Amino acid sequence: MEARPKCPAQKFTFAVIGGGFTGTTLGVQLVRHTDPSCSVVVIERMSLPGRGLAYGTGSDSHLLNVPAKDMSAFPEDQEHFLRWAKLNYDRDVEPCRFVPRKAYGRYLGAILSEAVLSGGKRRLCWMRDEARALAPTRTGEIEIRLRSGTRVLADKIVLALGNFPSSDPSLPGRALANSPRSSPNPYFSNPWSDTSFEGVEHLGSILLLGSGLSSLDVAVELRHRGFAGTIHILSRRGLLPQSHRWHGPWPNFWNERSPKGVRGLLRLIREQLNAAEQRGVDWRGVINSLRPVTAQIWQSLPEAEKRRFLRHLQPYWDVHRHRAAPEIAQFVDEQRSHGKIQLHAGRITSYRENGSRVEISYNQRKTVEEVGFVVDRIINCTAPETDCRRLQDPLMTALLAEGRVRPDPLFLGLDSSVDGALIDQHGIISNSLYAVGSVRKGSLWESTAVPEIREQVYRLVQHLVSTSGQTHHIRLDPGREESRPTTMARKSALPNPEISIEPMSIARVDLEVG
Ligand SMILES: Cc1cc2nc3c(=O)[nH]c(=O)nc-3n(C[C@H](O)[C@H](O)[C@H](O)COP(=O)(O)OP(=O)(O)OC[C@H]3O[C@@H](n4cnc5c(N)ncnc54)[C@H](O)[C@@H]3O)c2cc1C
Repeated sequence: MEARPKCPAQKFTFAVIGGGFTGTTLGVQLVRHTDPSCSVVVIERMSLPGRGLAYGTGSDSHLLNVPAKDMSAFPEDQEHFLRWAKLNYDRDVEPCRFVPRKAYGRYLGAILSEAVLSGGKRRLCWMRDEARALAPTRTGEIEIRLRSGTRVLADKIVLALGNFPSSDPSLPGRALANSPRSSPNPYFSNPWSDTSFEGVEHLGSILLLGSGLSSLDVAVELRHRGFAGTIHILSRRGLLPQSHRWHGPWPNFWNERSPKGVRGLLRLIREQLNAAEQRGVDWRGVINSLRPVTAQIWQSLPEAEKRRFLRHLQPYWDVHRHRAAPEIAQFVDEQRSHGKIQLHAGRITSYRENGSRVEISYNQRKTVEEVGFVVDRIINCTAPETDCRRLQDPLMTALLAEGRVRPDPLFLGLDSSVDGALIDQHGIISNSLYAVGSVRKGSLWESTAVPEIREQVYRLVQHLVSTSGQTHHIRLDPGREESRPTTMARKSALPNPEISIEPMSIARVDLEVG
């Protein structure tokens, strides 16, 4: 069976695999910046566009960890989310407010609906399915094989797969726990699964492995679900994300003559932090000033220095750069002051199940003394796996096995060119297969949050448009610097575009494909 999506008579098809924030905005930008002879297919295995892991939460307590003013989906229109939020979420929303992620998910749904309604309907096809493999055809297109058996032909394909699930950390003694058991398994691998929270209201203590933003999210969710016991949070260094706080601006201080080594860079940043403190500027201003040049800094480092950074500095960078909303940080502080959250730093030395409970021992980081505690449940909140050789994902497994992609040298994702084109096992840069978002961490370092990804999406669209061989069909938006309000922002005079149209429009688009 061979099926092309029934986007009528299009001459050129872009396919985007993954419809989280990245895939949704990429699909919308492609429709906006190409002419009607191009079609865009977004393939997403989940039901709602844009949600992904981050914005699919149903809880109002899960807040964005980036202020509203920085969450526009469109770099060419930085106020876009704020305008939408004022019209559709809370008319008094302040630029520095940390809005619930649930509301942001609605925003992304509204963006897609708007793109469909304002002309994209015949060109933007949303398919709820899972891409499992890719195969080039003799005519130069690529066939995407989906779990349902449907096949889609596309001229250019972009992987927007997001973060991969975390791998289970090594817990000495846990292998035995995998053998047949008489009591329920107390270890939960996936912090985003509902099953990790089942019955928590009856438990007395829970251990969260990892102390990043995911752990804080899970801690909030545990309280939300009625868990009243002790939350233990354990990681090697025991560092929690810092809190966001208002800070003044600090000028960019990095340039191409800056040190090319981790030690020199650290010295430079410390000098700037001291200077900022003397001028009454919060350290957050200094860290944020690095944001626009982080990719350049990363690319300026020799591989050995990148490895040194990953070995010694990454946890410190992460907690200063990826900060928590003030409300979340305050919640954690309060819980810690009452002993309801206990933070541990060290390396786990043993895991022993005893009935329905688990005895955990670990070597404390500072004293190297072995200490322990007993918990009813363990939830793995460690960072996403980045080494694609270790993934169970069918698409990634197929792409690696066929040599169409290869890991980057640091195993942070997939090897890609500066434009985002994927590099195969022989080192050849593809002219039809691209990636955007988390899997580009190896070449960009910061490739996870909205402010970075929206820029990446925008640049990729420019590249795709100019290299698609369809330039006479395609127009690049001439007015980026004018920062024109988008159609949706004007249309937002509608009470909430998504509420009335989203389920219908997605269903309608679904019907048009396959
Ligand atoms: C809990 C959490 C909170 C976050 N909060 C913020 C925040 O407040 N601000 C911020 O800027 N960033 C935040 N982030 C970072 C977040 O990664 C980005 O904002 C953004 O959601 C990334 O979107 P994405 O589309 O790249 O990835 P994802 O949202 O993970 O989407 C990838 C999508 O691809 C689909 N997919 C994967 N493989 C296939 C396949 N083979 N076939 C079909 N579909 C497939 C998946 O189903 C998924 O929906 C958060 C992340 C998490 C996990």
